[in-house]
Amino acid sequence: MIIEKLKESGLKGRSGSCFPTWVKWEAVLKAKKKVGKCFVVCNAAEGEPAVFKDKYLLETYPEEIINGIKIAIETLDAEKAFIYLRNSYFKKFKKTLEKIIGNDPIELFAETGGYLCGEETTLMESVVGNRNEPRIRPPFPTEAGLFGFPTLINNVETFYSVSKIEKGQYSRTRFYCISGKVKNPGVFEFPEDMPIGEILEQTNNAPLFKYFVQVGGGASGGIMILEELFNPVEGAASIVVYDQVETNPRDLMRKWINFYYNQNCGKCVPCREGVYRLKEMLDSEESLNLPLVRAVLNVLGQFSFCPLGKGVAFSMKSLLERVELKK
Ligand code: SF4
Repeated sequence: MIIEKLKESGLKGRSGSCFPTWVKWEAVLKAKKKVGKCFVVCNAAEGEPAVFKDKYLLETYPEEIINGIKIAIETLDAEKAFIYLRNSYFKKFKKTLEKIIGNDPIELFAETGGYLCGEETTLMESVVGNRNEPRIRPPFPTEAGLFGFPTLINNVETFYSVSKIEKGQYSRTRFYCISGKVKNPGVFEFPEDMPIGEILEQTNNAPLFKYFVQVGGGASGGIMILEELFNPVEGAASIVVYDQVETNPRDLMRKWINFYYNQNCGKCVPCREGVYRLKEMLDSEESLNLPLVRAVLNVLGQFSFCPLGKGVAFSMKSLLERVELKK
């Protein structure tokens, strides 16, 4: 049984959540037995800056991804599966994927919004034609997801790994996107527990200048400085290298906040107002009022309705703790 194999493999979701995959599959299977119907979703929304591994996998291993989705449909006896694709991916991969899918019950779905559509409850709202906004959990998608039925949502890389596990070819690796001030950017496959410093060395990307990295997403990822690069990390889908002397942390924060300003849905006050106020402070000519910035970030981190608002707080607090502001 594939769920036993998933358990033995130790596979954790590759969306960044690091949730054990087998637990999700088993939860959907149990819930489906009660209500008689379930769905599968492959999340290919991939909308965060500096994250492009799902694109690489769709380009390079589309058969493995479809195979992983088919395994899920068969295991759960699901009605059908959706592949929820970022718009540019939908255009780029539609023909290839349709050819591999053939008559299997898998539908391609082009995203209806931006970054937030990658958040699983927003994704489900989008598929059923509602506004692109997250909804409260519980109920979790595994209990009441698409059209109110149990739904398994895994990302592209997770389905790729499921296919490898089923074939006995999985070796606890994952894919890392490397970008920023490096010689050799791209997507690389390495053991899931390999330290960031070693990945940079092995890919010929370890800079000779003083640098810091952002790990796990080019907007929401945490900052690591040189002394931390050999610490264990989970969910490191992306590694962005910044020159510590050339990079102005305030410019970096401004770049992130502009992204969040354009991508937040406005549903909850902490994020809607917090992101607006942070943008206002970062865009002004005046020196940053750091206690106020930290207070806004604390509110965002504690009270935002969904992971987007919490992501703003995580990356900025992490930067402020490690890199000195110049102004
Ligand atoms: S945290 Fe931001 S993106 Fe999430 S619900 Fe609130 S306003 Fe929308």
